Formats: sequence, C-alpha cells, structure tokens
Amino acid sequence: MKVLKFGGTSVGTLESIDQVVSIIQHNVSSGQKIAVVYSAMGGVTNRLIEVGKQASEGQTTYLEVLRQVEERHFHIIRQRIDIKHQSAVMAQTRGLFNELEDILKGVSLLQELSLRTQDFILSFGERLSTYLMTEVLRSCDIPAHFVDARDIIKTDAHFSMAEVIPDLTQDLIQRHFAEHSDSLACITGFIASTQDGVTTTLGRGGSDYTASIVGAALDAEVIEIWTDVNGMMTADPRKVKNAFTIPQISYAEAMELSHFGAKVIYPPSLIPAFKKNIPIQILNTFEKEHPGTTVARDVPKQPYPITGISSIDDIALVNLQGNGMIGVAGVSAKVFSLLAKHRISVILISQASSEHSICFAVDPKSAAGVKEILTEGFEAEIAQGWIDQIVVEHQLSVIAIVGEGMKATSGTSGKLFTVLGKNGINVIATAQGSSELNISVVIQKKDISKALNAIHEAFFAVDGMTLHLFLAGGTGLIGKTLLRQLQAQKAFLKSQKNINIRVVGMINSRKMWMNTEGIDLDSWEQDWPEKSETAQLSTFMEDMVYLNLPNSIFVDSTANKDIIQYYEGLLKQSISIVTPNKVANSGPYSQYVALQKAARQGNARFLYETNVGAGLPIINTLQGLITSGDKIHKIEAVLSGTLSFIFNTFQPGLSFAEVVRQAQAEGYTEPDPREDLSGMDVARKILILARETGIALEPADVVISPLMSETMQSAPSVEAFYEALVQERALFDAQIEEAQKSGKVLRFIASLENGKAHVGLQMVGPEHPFFNLAGSENIISFTTDRYRYNPLVVKGPGAGAEVTAMGVFADIMSIHHFLN
Ligand code: ADP
Ligand code: ASP
Ligand code: MG
Repeated sequence: MKVLKFGGTSVGTLESIDQVVSIIQHNVSSGQKIAVVYSAMGGVTNRLIEVGKQASEGQTTYLEVLRQVEERHFHIIRQRIDIKHQSAVMAQTRGLFNELEDILKGVSLLQELSLRTQDFILSFGERLSTYLMTEVLRSCDIPAHFVDARDIIKTDAHFSMAEVIPDLTQDLIQRHFAEHSDSLACITGFIASTQDGVTTTLGRGGSDYTASIVGAALDAEVIEIWTDVNGMMTADPRKVKNAFTIPQISYAEAMELSHFGAKVIYPPSLIPAFKKNIPIQILNTFEKEHPGTTVARDVPKQPYPITGISSIDDIALVNLQGNGMIGVAGVSAKVFSLLAKHRISVILISQASSEHSICFAVDPKSAAGVKEILTEGFEAEIAQGWIDQIVVEHQLSVIAIVGEGMKATSGTSGKLFTVLGKNGINVIATAQGSSELNISVVIQKKDISKALNAIHEAFFAVDGMTLHLFLAGGTGLIGKTLLRQLQAQKAFLKSQKNINIRVVGMINSRKMWMNTEGIDLDSWEQDWPEKSETAQLSTFMEDMVYLNLPNSIFVDSTANKDIIQYYEGLLKQSISIVTPNKVANSGPYSQYVALQKAARQGNARFLYETNVGAGLPIINTLQGLITSGDKIHKIEAVLSGTLSFIFNTFQPGLSFAEVVRQAQAEGYTEPDPREDLSGMDVARKILILARETGIALEPADVVISPLMSETMQSAPSVEAFYEALVQERALFDAQIEEAQKSGKVLRFIASLENGKAHVGLQMVGPEHPFFNLAGSENIISFTTDRYRYNPLVVKGPGAGAEVTAMGVFADIMSIHHFLN
C-alpha cells in the first residue's frame, strides 16, 4: 500500500489535475494499491479564511469571493466530468456551496466567528476538492470513492490545531479500508472531527499530516507527498534561486527544517511515519520523473556541512528580564508552562547564561496575548520590581541552518556568523539546540532575503559566490573598459575561481538602469538606450540599499563630486566601494576619517588603489608596509602621467609651449592643460598617500611650487594661456638649460618627509631613480626602516583607461577574497 497526497498546488488547475490523474492512473494500472489524500484547491483555504472574516465583520463582499471559488470548481466540472454525470456533480457541488453560504450568513448575522465555526468553514475546501477529484477519476474509469476524513480521524476539540486521538483513529482507518478495498479511497486532507462529530482541522498545511496518519495506520510502504517543487530543497526555492534538491534527509532534519518554515512538509506529519519507519517521498507533480527527496531514518552523510536552511519571515521576540530572575529556579518553568497552558507554540528560546533574561520567539499573531498572559502570571514579580516590563519586538525573522553534519564539524556557527557579519546583518538573538542539529538566528525582517542567499552561498558554494556590482560612470571611458574586461574574464572567473559577477545597476549623468537579474555584458551597449531611464542619483542609491543584495559593491568610475555624499551611507549599510575617484579621499581630513570609520562600522571595504598611479600597486604596497610595522621616512614620486610626458619630452632648444601642445594633441592632458600644470592633481595624490601613512593633512597643507606664472594661470582662455607660455618661454628655457649643464633632468616631483608634503619641479641626476623615466610613466619610491638604503620603487604606466580599469577590477577581486 502506498499513500499519495496531492497538495493545493497540484489540484488547482486543469493542467495540474491532469498530471494528478496520470500519476494515479500509472499506479492503478501497474497493480499498486494506493490511497489518495487531497488538499483544497490552491489558495482556497486562504479564501475561506477571508470570507469568514468578512462575514463576521458584516461585509457582504464574501459573496463575490465565494462565487469565484465556486466558479473554479465548476470550471473543472465542465471540462473534466463526463457529460452524463456533469449535472449531478454540479448539483452536489452547488449543494455544498449553498450550505457554506448559509453558514456564512449566520456568521454575518451574529458577527461572530469562533475557531470552531472557522474549522467548519474551512472543511468545505477539502470536501469540495476531494469530491471533485473522486468524480474526475470516475470519469476516467478509475473506480474511486469519497472518504470524509471526519469519519476516520478523531481529535480533541482544540479547534484550528486539533490533536489526534491515535488508537481510535487507527482503528477507524483500518476498519474503513477493510470494508472498502474494492475501489480507490479519495480522502479529504486537513480535516477531522471530535468524538462527538464536531469538525476540527489539523493546522495549516495539515493534509500532509492526514497522509502520514493514514499511511501509518495502514502500514504503508511509502507515503508520497506530491507538490510543486522537486522535493525538499536546501532552501525555499522562491527565496533562494540556487537552492537544490536534498536527495535524502533524516526525519529529524526534515523536522527541524519544516519547523523553521520549510512549508513543503508540515512538521507533525513526520511523526507517524517516523514511528513506523515509513519513508516519506516528496515529489513534484509537474516533473514526475524527478526523484525528489526521501525522508528516512538512516540516510547517507551529506557532502555539505549543513543539510538545509529555512526561515520564518515574520516572528515576534518576547523579552523577559530583570534582576529577580538570577538564580531563582523556576522562572523559565513558569513562563513555558503558562505558554503551554494557552497552547502558544514557541519557535525558539534563548537564555543568557547570566540568567538575567529569557527571550523567545512566537508567531506575531500571538504576541499580544503572550504579553498579557505573562504580565498577569508575573504580576507580583513585576510589582516587586524583580522582573521588568515584558517587551515584544516585531518586524523580525528567524533563519535556521540544519544538519546532522554539524555534530562532527567545528566552525559551522563561526561560518554562519562571519557571513552575516560580512553582509552587515545584525544578529538579534541566537539559539543552538543541544542536539547540534540546528543553529538559529533572529534578524531584522528586511535582511531576510540577503541573509538566506548569503548563507546559502557560503554553505553550498556549488555555484560560487555572486558579486553584485553597481556602476556609476559605466558609460565613461574607464567604466566601459571595466565592463569589457569583466565580460572578457567572466567565463574564466566562473570556471577557475567559481566567482559570478553580476552587474545589477548602472548610472551616468543622464540615464540609469537597474536589473536584479543582471545586465547582460555582451549586449549592454545595444540595450542601454532602450532599457535605461532618466537618471536620479538619489533613487539609484536608495534602490541599491533597498535591494539589500549580498556581496554588493558600488564602483564609482566618475570624477563626480555629488556622488561622494553617498559613500558613508553605503559603507555603513555594508556595501563596499571601489573607486578611482579621488574626490572623497582628498577632501577635508574629517571626511577621509569618516569614510574609514564607516567602512569599519559596516564591515565593508573601501578600496581606491586607482586613486594614485592608476593600476600600479601603490596604496596596497604602502598599506602593506605600514600594517607590517615598517616606518615610512620619505615618499618621493612622479604621479602625473601628463607632467611625466611633458618633462620627458622637453629638451633644450624646444619650446615648452610646443611640448604642452603636443601632450594635449596626444590626449595626455585635460582639455585645459593648466589643470595638469597647476600641480593640483599631484597634490591630491600625495595628500592621500600622506593620510595613508597616518598624517592628518588638510588639502591646504600641501605646498605647491607653481610651474606657471600668474599671467598663465589667469589667462582668460586656453589659447591666451598658450600665448603667455610663448611669451614667457625664458622661464622654462632657463631651467632646462641649467639642468642640462649639470647633467640632470627636470622632474615634477611630489614628496612627503617629516610630515610635510610638497610638489614642484626638481632637477635630478643620473644617480636618482627618477632619472630614467619614459613616456607617461609614474614612479614612486618609499624610503622606510626596512628599505632605508635602497628604497622600494614602484614604476610603470600610471594613467590610461586599460590600466585604471584593471586596478578597479583587482580591487573588486580583493573584496571577493574578503567576503569569501
Ligand atoms: P502544497 O500545496 O503542495 O502542500 P505548499 O505550498 O504547502 O505545497 O509547499 C510547497 C512550497 O514550499 C514550495 O512551493 C516552496 O516554495 C515552499 N518551500 C519552503 N521551503 C522549502 C524547501 N526547503 N524545499 C522545498 N520547498 C520549500
Ligand atoms: N488546505 C489546507 C491549508 O491550506 C491544508 C493543506 O494544504 O495541507 O492549510
Ligand atoms: Mg502544504
């Protein structure tokens, strides 16, 4: 004997009903003895709760809802019951709806809805669907009979969550099957009755329980739970896209997962099957061939440290604290016996070892009641001041990681808390069962999706880690180059490093585009005009935070000043930032410090290697020296590719104006070359380096020896500036000639020594490491304790989109190492 149960998801539509019929037919034709349990059509139980409530509030809208439910049933009758029987089945169905309508009318007159009446109203869902399925099978020539579970399952009178009377129920089931073995039993799930025949229900999702009770009573060889997913999965597939089927799971693990929200099986259903050691199979009505999940006593060891993750989205946390609780035996006993007396089920309990407080999670619907019960129960203690007022917190969720594998391995909880921490998710309470089967954490409701995905990724990293990128300035030169590099490396990163890069948002000064599925890097340029909308920087930033995706990184490849104001907020929200944009780090020192602090607070990374020398490893090198305890004595550097090019080209006899013109023509300068010649850009870079060494410099503290005269600086146009350069060429001629005479060259050098930063033109001889520089190269030398006689030198191209984008890319990868 096999017991099959079809959930609401399997009996909701014509298509699904056809699948159900074919599964049953397959069993019957192969000679397999079966009994079948059905839920109400998908969504119907919820509708019935709604109509009950509406009627009890005196609204008449329930009539319309009822009509819709009725129409769903009639539609199936018209399509799947053979014509001869249609009118009889319709009459019977209409009869049930009339009866239901009468009850609702009564509820609406009395404006009162007890749980007892509600259970009766709900019973119509299963009675209607099961009757209908019985008739559908008969129309397919499968002999079947309708079984009202109220006749075979007996419970106490705890309406909405009745407790089964096991022996009596078992007898009734066995007797029924002994007397009706000639045709297929179609049994209503979820519903039962008291010994007096009053209708009860077994709790939401209770049809699974019905199947298990029947299966156990009949000593079935297997209980099959047919639903709309491929078995029990590592997480709810609606919330975690990468969730996958757990092929085999123990009763205990399945119990933990379902207790913490894995709705795919109702927790009590595991007990009757467990007691009789009957395996439960969870199968997909819509993918019949899939092996799904087998729940059994002994299962092979899982290849992952945990078996699954589940969550309850909405819980309330009740806190009981006070000095009077310390060392006083029996406070918790009293709390939980009060709760048990009122049949309030507790989802999780956590008690600090100081015994100063107990906190526990309950369904938010019962939170107000709990507060009342405890306030009353501890009236005396509260009056004495031994126990403080009872506090209830809302808007919380609980996540549980579950698995027998935890017993043997250490570090599971470490991993869990690390991944939550790295994603800026605050843990409000935690509990670990002593069975080491589950660790649960209470978090803010808003973090639930991010937490589930991040935890899943950490424990089941089969698909690797996904980095979610938001890119400002994506359509600019550096941004485009970065996107091209990412696109080119995508396959390599996936196959060799198991890293997925998903660009979720892009914005430029005019347009923006968000796509949580990821923007296709192969076609983004073609798609951009159509998919993007008018840019609104604040909305973009808010959405980034609101989406709350794990491993989010904001890449700012603009030189924009307005974006900077958002950095601090993003970092605090645990969104890491990578940027070549120098504005943030070269503003007021207080801003620099605030950003470092925000990154620490949010456990995020703020990386800006490309602020200085594009992709050259300058900031990383400096940080490496400092964190390893070296002392920086002096930094000297050529940090402007433009000025490097100009002074590498300038020779005695050449006009300085012509050299600058050439640099401009070759794209080395800003549109107004004075921005480069002013030395400001170099000053910002040395300022950032100084700050990295721990010196609190302000922008104005950097001393700039100007290259240009007052006339050049204040010339009204670029052309007027060039004229001034020609007129005052003697200024430059004199310097280059003097340099040549002494065998030296001119270099625009930034330096930091004794806490002072300076930028300006210097003459250097062949003994100096900066003597031999070509093209637009940058060079930096660090003189330190360890590199005292022979400075540490980094040299190479320090400008250009390719190398800057590469530097940004490398920073993104180092965030991956941090998160991993
Ligand atoms: P039925 O109507 O068949 O009883 P339910 O809606 O009660 O179906 O349960 C199936 C649903 O459970 C799935 O659609 C899925 O979204 C949800 N679910 C939650 N957690 C899990 C999990 N770990 N594995 C599979 N499904 C899960
Ligand atoms: N129809 C009931 C419910 O929605 C029982 C079930 O689906 O298992 O809760
Ligand atoms: Mg269910």
